[in-house]
Parts: sequence; C-alpha cells; structure tokens
Amino acid sequence: MPDDGRAVAEAAFRADWDALAGIGRDPRSGGYRRFAWTREDATLRAWFTGRAAGLGMEVVTDRGGNLWAWSGDPDAAVADGAAPLVLGSHLDSVPDGGAYDGPLGVVSAFAALELLRARGRAPARPVGIACFADEEGARFGVACAGSRLLTGVLDPDRGRALTDAQGTSVAEAMAAAGVDPAHVGRDEETLRRVGTFVELHVEQGRALIDDDAAVGVASAIWPHGRWRLDLAGRADHAGTTRLADRDDPMLRLATAVATARAAAERHGSLATIGKVDVRPNGVNAIPSHVTAWLDARGDDPDAVRRVVAEVSDAVGTAAAEESWTPSTDFDVPLRDRLAALLGDVPVLPTGAGHDAGILAAAGVRSAMLFVRNPTGVSHSPEEHAEDADCVAGIAALAAVVEELA
Ligand SMILES: [Zn+2]
Repeated sequence: MPDDGRAVAEAAFRADWDALAGIGRDPRSGGYRRFAWTREDATLRAWFTGRAAGLGMEVVTDRGGNLWAWSGDPDAAVADGAAPLVLGSHLDSVPDGGAYDGPLGVVSAFAALELLRARGRAPARPVGIACFADEEGARFGVACAGSRLLTGVLDPDRGRALTDAQGTSVAEAMAAAGVDPAHVGRDEETLRRVGTFVELHVEQGRALIDDDAAVGVASAIWPHGRWRLDLAGRADHAGTTRLADRDDPMLRLATAVATARAAAERHGSLATIGKVDVRPNGVNAIPSHVTAWLDARGDDPDAVRRVVAEVSDAVGTAAAEESWTPSTDFDVPLRDRLAALLGDVPVLPTGAGHDAGILAAAGVRSAMLFVRNPTGVSHSPEEHAEDADCVAGIAALAAVVEELA
C-alpha cells in the first residue's frame, strides 16, 4: 500500500535544493547571481534537463529559449482535444537574489510528480514542466523576456537586439549558449500544447503570514508602470552660492520622493523612487540636472495614475511614462476551483510580474500558487520559506495535477 508520498516528496525537494544551492551563489552576499545565457544559467538548464530525463521526461527548447519537459506526448493530447497541464517557473535570479524566487516553482513541480508516482497515481495524461528563460530581466533589462518572446508580446527584432552592460546582445548570448536566435518569435506550436499553466512561487509579501496559511492562490497581478522625471536646475558652487540664489533640482527630487510616498498612502497604492541619475554628481556642486524613475503600482489603475499626477504637479514637470502594464486577472473559475480544492486557502493579489501573468494576458488559462514567506522579503539573500511550507506547496501542486490532469 503506497503511503501518502510525503517522505518521497520531502527527499526529492531536499536533494534538488542541495543540487542547486551552490550554482551562481556569491559567497560575499550569500545571494544568487544567475543571469540569462551565462555559464551559471547553462548549468541550471543542464540540471533541469537531467532532472527531467531522470523522470523519463523529454525536454524541448521553444523559439524563445524556454525549456519544456514533457511526460507523454503533448501533441497527441492536443489532437484528442485535451491540451496538457503545465507546471513550472524560472531558475534565473536578480542580482544578489534569494534561493526561492523561481527555483521553488521548478523544484516543487518535479517533486509533485514524484509524490504522485509514490502514491501510485501518476497522471495518465501528458504533463509538462516549464523552465522560462530570463524571467527577471537582470541582464538585458526586460522582465519575463522568455515568455514575452514565446507569446510574441516582445517583438523578435527588439528582443534579439537588447544588450547587457558589456554591450553583448541577446542574439549573441543565446547563440553562445547554443540556442539559435534566428528562431525567436511567437511560438504557436508550443502555445497550442499548454492547456493550463500553474506556476508555484514563493510569496513576495506578508499576506499569508497574516492569514496564517502555508499556501495561497493568486487573484491578479496589479497594474504597474514606470515613469521618468527630468528635473532641471543650474549647476553652481556649493560654497559660494547663496541659498536664495540657487536653482537646485535635488530639492525637487526630495519633494518628488516625499510626495510619492504620501500620495501612495492616500490612494492605497505603492510608489517607489529607487533609481536616480545626478549630474554632475559632485559633493561640492549644486546639481545641474536630476533624473529620477518612479515605479507605481496598486489594485486600482486610476489610483496609481493619481499618484503619478500628484508627483508631477508637486515638481512642476510631467512624468514621462516609460512602461504601463494593465491589471492581469487570472482565470476566475480556475482560481476559485483551486482555492476550494486546497481547502479554501486565501486568494490574494500580487504587485510583482510573473511568466504566468504574461501567459494569462496572452489568453492561456493560468493560475498561481504562493508559498508563505516568513519575513515577506524577496529579491534578497534574506528571502526564505520554511521546509514544511515548501512540502505543503508540493502537496498542493500534486493535488492540482490530480484535479486537472
Ligand atoms: Zn519569480
């Protein structure tokens, strides 16, 4: 009589976690530097392929460079009118990122299939596990680049031409990694195979702590955007220019930062100025120019835009919109079905972008599971999830496979 498979799942999780722990880890910060199309990335992709092969799964690379491990023949399932369920996430990281953002979803997917096998309940229909390329955009500046290329949201020519800080293009980096950039473009053959995509991810916030739940289901990804503020002034000497005679753009930056915070609080949104460029950037020089970037997000797009308008008014300069992504709602019947299946777990929105959001926006039925993060911190070496919660996530994913495959 097979047991409930938990011991098998826990052992699989631990073995995979140990196998990945040293790859791309910076010993000084304790964080990870796993950037797209680097040697570290190649090691991670080789690990994925080997792990899948160990489970008898076949791995194919799509036109965007994403990896897909398949148990069974997905095309036969499509021909039968039942496109497969796909699990997975990404293995790349932000600079000095944590261990969980991305890898937890991939490792949990393999462990969930092992758990079902241990129970003698391996799915009869094909199931896929995806490993998306360049989710964080840490090297080339565009987040979710792999899923954006797959769905055609990112123009192939623009995608290939993106460059890193050393001037290496995506096309050159992909080619060096053995993936032909000439094939980049919307990949209908791959998209047709994805009936449903479910991405498990470490929570990047504290909602599940407040709800006292190990696992939750995503409702939506908030609308979010980036704006540039160009604040002009007049360069002058810090020691000889009377305060009354100065035109100091740094004061308007201070106003922008304080206004963004106050307006976000008033309108129930989030606003951050995390990047500034100061000219000439000298200790004893009144700046001639400050450029600042405002990141604003929230569940209500009108509220987000009110925050941006108030910052513009406060500094007397219109903020220039560099990007805007509307709200992405995950499939509501699927979301409700999974929340009920997992025992009426919390359903929560997120302010972070994900490959599941890109697929959902492209019309693929998608859902996300979140695993509790005991500090809420992510994109940092401090990012964490307790082993018991990771195992609960694997059990949840296994339940989803049994329900949907
Ligand atoms: Zn992620």
